[in-house]
Amino acid sequence: MSIQWFPGHMHLTRKAITERIKEIDVVIEMLDARLPGSSANPLLAELTASRPALKVVNKQDMADPLRTALWLAHYNAQPNTRAISLDASETSPARAIIAACHELAPLRGGMVKPMRVLICGIPNVGKSTLINTLKGKRAAKTGDEAGVTRTESRIALADDFYLYDTPGMLWPRIVVPESGYNLAASGAVGKNAYDEQEVALELMDKIKRVYGVELEARYKLGMTPEAIAETKDEDLLEAVGRKRSALTSGGRVDPQKCAEILIGDFRTNAIGRLTLETPEEFAVWLKAGHSA
Ligand code: GDP
Repeated sequence: MSIQWFPGHMHLTRKAITERIKEIDVVIEMLDARLPGSSANPLLAELTASRPALKVVNKQDMADPLRTALWLAHYNAQPNTRAISLDASETSPARAIIAACHELAPLRGGMVKPMRVLICGIPNVGKSTLINTLKGKRAAKTGDEAGVTRTESRIALADDFYLYDTPGMLWPRIVVPESGYNLAASGAVGKNAYDEQEVALELMDKIKRVYGVELEARYKLGMTPEAIAETKDEDLLEAVGRKRSALTSGGRVDPQKCAEILIGDFRTNAIGRLTLETPEEFAVWLKAGHSA
């Protein structure tokens, strides 16, 4: 069974974005670097197709740097698109973002035609953190809180540079089952929408193929990466649980506890900087999903 997730109010967000996009020069889409493809919302691409896009691959500090590089190259090869990776709490992401926006919309800027940028992304991807960091930078530089105007959803980063927050909530949209599992593993999908044991098995399947060394270092299973890659997901999950004494009162390994350990360790980076998908894999999933 794949993950079912039907959050409401998407039609309101669709309407609000369609309205707002008319006055926007560049759309920033924030993505989770651990699952860039799955954390994108295809609705956004559809609604903002007419505008240049800046993909901000956020939480790069939590992701596999090699895979982040693959995603940046993938996005940068798309027309009218730039991509940067970021840790939204970094102290100075503003320069890279402002420079990329000017590159994408060279005719905008200056008091007469200020740059108008819309920041979008699914909940928890780091929008507020980035907006706060950007605001803080400006406040620190000018020492003038009044210069940071935040009306309902518009933030003036400079006299000629305005940021707009997503109007409405851009919930994740699960297009293929793999995306559902990756979103659930990352915590982007409500806990009631998925079965943790199922998500943990899928997570183990992705981890064992690429991150056997990290898995061994974390749980000391006494296995080589090759052996890990060849072991069944459920057996690996059980081995992890045994190592961590995830037992029922009867002394058996508790599958639910095993699942919680693996998911929790993934979310806190305890296993290392893991990225669950590459552009190539994601394209394969999409293709299979559309032909199914
Ligand atoms: P929003 O719902 O998109 O506004 O997301 P938030 O800005 O509230 O961020 C959600 C969580 O992710 C918070 O706990 C942030 O501290 C954390 N976070 C945001 N950006 C980053 C990042 O680049 N790296 C890390 N490690 N954590 C981040």
